[in-house]
Formats: sequence, C-alpha cells, structure tokens
Amino acid sequence: MGENRIQAYFEGKYVPLEEAKISILTHAFLYGTACFGGVRAYWNPEKGQLYGFRFEDHYRRLLNAAKLLRMNLKYSNEDLRNITIELLRKANYRENVYLRPVAYKSSQGIGVKLHGLEDDFTVAVIPFGKYIDNNALRVTVSGWRRPDDNMLPSRGKINGAYVNASLAKSDAVENGYDEAIFLTASGHVSEGSAENLFIVRKGQLITPPITDDVLEGITRDSLMVLARDLGIEVVERSIDRTELYFCDEMFLCGTAAQVSPVVEVDHRIIGDGKIGPVSEKLAQAFNDVLLGKNEKYMHWLTPIF
Ligand code: PMP
Repeated sequence: MGENRIQAYFEGKYVPLEEAKISILTHAFLYGTACFGGVRAYWNPEKGQLYGFRFEDHYRRLLNAAKLLRMNLKYSNEDLRNITIELLRKANYRENVYLRPVAYKSSQGIGVKLHGLEDDFTVAVIPFGKYIDNNALRVTVSGWRRPDDNMLPSRGKINGAYVNASLAKSDAVENGYDEAIFLTASGHVSEGSAENLFIVRKGQLITPPITDDVLEGITRDSLMVLARDLGIEVVERSIDRTELYFCDEMFLCGTAAQVSPVVEVDHRIIGDGKIGPVSEKLAQAFNDVLLGKNEKYMHWLTPIF
C-alpha cells in the first residue's frame, strides 16, 4: 500500500487505490445499494503462473444481483473479465490475490429507490493470505436469522445485506467462537456469515438447498462437483439444527474461507473433534484445482500471465 501500484479499476481507469474514491453522498454509500463479488487468483510458483478462479461464474452472479438492483451496467460478462485480467496484469502481483468487484448506484443524492439512478462498476485487487486463521473452527448457531428471499435475497451479494452477516459474526467472535451459523426465518440451517455449509452424515455430503436462503456459492458448487468425482454421495436438502450436533463432519466453504473444517458447534464436539477424512480429501482436491494441478478443471482457471 502507498506504493502507487495500480490496484483498482475505477470510473473507467486503472488507478492506485488512493485515487479510487466515492463521495459521501453516493447512493450506494447511503443505502447499501450495491452488489459485490469476492474473487481470487492463485499464484502457482512452480508454473510461474497466476490463475483466476471461475471468473465467468463470479461475474454471472454479480450481473444477476445487478439486475435485481435494477442496474443498467454498460459491461458484459466478457468485458468484466477483460477488465479484471487487465487489472491483474497491471498490478503484477506474483502471489495469491483477492479481487473485490462492486457494481453500485453511483448517483449522488437523497432518495430511497433503485430506478432512475446511474450505475458504475469498480474492482480492486489486494494480496491475500488466509481469511480464517484457525483450521479447526468452533462455531455457534446465531440468534440472528437469515432474511428470506422476499425480505433481502441471499442469492446475490448485496452490500447492505452484509450488516446482517456482520451482526452474527461479531456476536459469535465476541462470545468466543470463530464463526456464526445462520438459521432461516423458518428455522432451518442456512450458512455461515460469509461461507456456505456442508455436513457429513453416514457417508453422505449434505448441504442446504439454495432455497434455504443461501448464497449461490461458487466454492459450494465446485466442491459438489469434486465430491461426486471422488465417489462421494452429495445431497442438497434442508438441515435441522440438531443435525449440526449429530453429524460426523462439518465444514464451511467460500472463496475467502476455502474449506474450513468445524470441530465444535455450541460446545458439542463434532465427530472425534478432529478434521474429518471427507473434509480433508475435499480440501486437498480443491487446492489442487486452484493451483492448476488437475487437468480436468483447467477450464475453471484463467491464466493471467
Ligand atoms: N455465503 C455468503 C453469505 C458469502 O458471503 C460467501 C462469500 N462469497 C459465500 C457463501 C461463499 O461463496 P463463494 O464460494 O462464491 O465465495
């Protein structure tokens, strides 16, 4: 930071972070009327290559959320990918990085609405190590509920909705846990504050359906594909809270969190309290894909250099 390195695409230009600033009257700042992505690119030192992961899918999700927010962006999915590739080339990091694309209501002024406003797109890149330090998480079921699809849809990453996520995460951390698990308004398990959730019971890998107010997670999707390849039975169905206490394994997953095993839920030990074999196998398989070590999934990667 402070090195004048190009780290953002903002208002149509590639600029250092210091030059990427919005007004305090920007609609997105006042009302949370923006949607964002969390995207990673991984450095493989043996190949001397930086691989972007599932850019097209990340931007498809972002463009869907933009549609929900009644945005008229002038960029196609391909445009967004090209901007991102160009930014990564200009930034020239030779290490793992995190990208934060945001589509936002860029008009300045007061007025609660979505229509008749200007929209813009920006993306920033930062070097990024681990999001969750601890590799054996202790979590709690949050008293905060996930808003349902008719309140504040969880399918897209809407900036304002992350106040809900933050309420749960801070309560969990300040009460001594690593993460919070949300229930839906009707009481089923939904997801973590910024991660999808899987459990293993009797050899089955189980995750809540998207209709239980979870984000259409790209890591979630990738892990389901990889699990099936490994011969693991994958089931999408609603999960009850007590199943979290009874399951053999549990993990959270996401672009930032990757595969983060959970060893304790509300003071109940999961399995034997250690990272389970299915979680371990999937984490390894996923890591190989990210680094371009699995030929079958090279189509998920965008080589940058
Ligand atoms: N759920 C929520 C609420 C999230 O914010 C994230 C992070 N993007 C995820 C799940 C994981 O999604 P992905 O694998 O696409 O990063």
